[in-house]
Amino acid sequence: MKILVTGGLGFIGSETVLALISSGHTPVIADNLYNSKIGVLGRIETLSGVRPAFYRIDVSDKKALADLFEKERPEAVIHFAGYKAVGESVSKPIMYYRNNLMTTLSLLETMEEFGCENIVFSSSATVYGTPKRVPLYETDKRGETTNPYGETKSMIERILEDACKAFSSLTAVILRYFNPIGAHPSGLLGEDPRGIPNNLMPYIAQVAIGKRDKLHIFGNDYDTADGTGVRDYIHVVDLAEGHVAALKALDGKKGAKVFNLGTGRGTSVLELVHAFEKANGVKIPYVIEDRRPGDVAVNYASVEKAYRELGYKARLTIEDACRDSYNFQLKNPDGII
Ligand code: NAD
Ligand code: UDP
Repeated sequence: MKILVTGGLGFIGSETVLALISSGHTPVIADNLYNSKIGVLGRIETLSGVRPAFYRIDVSDKKALADLFEKERPEAVIHFAGYKAVGESVSKPIMYYRNNLMTTLSLLETMEEFGCENIVFSSSATVYGTPKRVPLYETDKRGETTNPYGETKSMIERILEDACKAFSSLTAVILRYFNPIGAHPSGLLGEDPRGIPNNLMPYIAQVAIGKRDKLHIFGNDYDTADGTGVRDYIHVVDLAEGHVAALKALDGKKGAKVFNLGTGRGTSVLELVHAFEKANGVKIPYVIEDRRPGDVAVNYASVEKAYRELGYKARLTIEDACRDSYNFQLKNPDGII
């Protein structure tokens, strides 16, 4: 299938482009390089032997999108393009609402114009808000979001559901990612955060190579086995495979369908630190700090629906992810250039 991948040079998008190529699909990438480097395209080519068609466009630009659709006629869209830094979304809410909503609205309008009826959207476990219990099921209601980034995901889910109700030929597959970590095992593709990493794994990896002196653990007084926060960390290679599996949901019944993409297992901050140390033979110095505002104690997915309906299951371990993240960090100490 020919698939437009918006944000296809980013962390998850680039890994998904590889997975699509190896399962016989033809990805076409649209990315404005806001948070990625053109060098990623060459790395995709090195790993797959294929250089996908690439359009350097802003996905909210309807004219540019129409030109792309006219030329490529994609049958489906996987929509990764968006801003994703939680903290930044609090200080620049308008920028986040504009980019995340406008890219989606422009895409949906262009898809309608060109008769493209399939969209897969990158949502997040953040839409569940503070969990009342775990695991989180797709049937659980969207909760109170705690920041503008999370609210954009919640709003876009609603937009997709409303669009599917109004246009009976549209299918929207909403994928709620839990915590993506890891990198391609070659060390050629991975997460390349700008400035100080917000997320745990890139921070640990930068401490491991001596770029930062110690990890700051946000709270050890949660109601968890060791007091640190528990999350469902999923290897990005597994997450990418989840998108290939999700394409199955485009066949058959139309409408909006939601799937969690996680492992179904929770890992604490300290467990992740120790797994990283063991997998790579390094020491990660850390200090305990106050809790980070907005953090929940425990969050992990029910993965039953993805297995039942898509035959999908994550297969890589936390140790695999620790090894691959460290390898990527070692090979790209200053990110992808
Ligand atoms: P990323 O920043 O690495 O990739 C996003 C890509 O989109 C970048 O290459 C960026 O240049 C591009 N982009 C942004 N705005 C654009 C625009 N207007 N036009 C064209 N391109 C644009 O992020 P990622 O980690 O790969 O995340 C991909 C998607 O998954 C995002 O929507 C993100 O919100 C969602 N998500 C990510 C996580 C995570 O922890 N990484 C968790 C849940 C959901
Ligand atoms: N965390 C931490 N130190 C950091 C970054 C994160 O202790 O430098 C903790 C955070 O409090 C949470 C977990 O690691 O319990 C995962 O945080 P991350 O920001 O990676 O993902 P989130 O679940 O918040 O989306």
